[in-house]
Amino acid sequence: MPTLTILGSGSSYGVPAPGCTCLVCRQGFQPNSKQYRTRSSVLIENQGKNLLIDLSPDFREQALKNNISCVDACLITHGHADSIMGLQDLRSYSQEKEIPVFASPETIQGIQKMFYYMFDAKKNAHISRITLHEFSKPFSLHGLKIAPIEVIHPPLSTAGFRIQDLAHIPDIKTLSEKSKPLLEGIKTLIVGATGDESYYSHQSIFEAIALARELKAEKTFFTHIGHRIDHIKPALPSGMQLAFDGLKIEF
Ligand SMILES: [Zn+2]
Ligand SMILES: [Zn+2]
Repeated sequence: MPTLTILGSGSSYGVPAPGCTCLVCRQGFQPNSKQYRTRSSVLIENQGKNLLIDLSPDFREQALKNNISCVDACLITHGHADSIMGLQDLRSYSQEKEIPVFASPETIQGIQKMFYYMFDAKKNAHISRITLHEFSKPFSLHGLKIAPIEVIHPPLSTAGFRIQDLAHIPDIKTLSEKSKPLLEGIKTLIVGATGDESYYSHQSIFEAIALARELKAEKTFFTHIGHRIDHIKPALPSGMQLAFDGLKIEF
């Protein structure tokens, strides 16, 4: 059975947010606090292979903490810094073998611009063994069926992924109508709930609850959580909970 580990459950600032002294951020400094949230990414283990979704700026810390011994492939949702800045820390895993990274054509352009020194032979004598692959349609990888889901995350179009009967959609304001049928019958939903009020590029926790109700997954975990959401307080509907760093989910 595939297992997903939440490597990071935080929004783009992470929690504690640097410079912030709010209660949630202060609680984040307590030992083993669930209010300590590194930037959003997940590890999926299946058939002895390790697949990552997103490479956050905290990837190095996440990899060491979770004892990730090898990486076989990565999926990237979009080109924002909190989803791709860990790419350079993938290099230590690519010493022995090539690692394919799958993303939309737009996201690949962003990665090539940001990490020009890793992919341009004229600027780097030692080209990385990390290779970039465009996706547009569903594909299979290490025994898993993966369908990219188009998501609206203004001003970008970004991707979520349906993997078997699990959907992972961390950066989201809304789902396009054409994406909803691709999520029919999901059993597990991991979806972004970034703040406690409406924001132009991310769902609030209330919008996330409404989407989860509409998609009717058996279990929903909220992720990409900012410091305006307190792990201790929200009374969430049955079957819904806040994710936290280190949470493992079988699917
Ligand atoms: Zn704060
Ligand atoms: Zn984003």
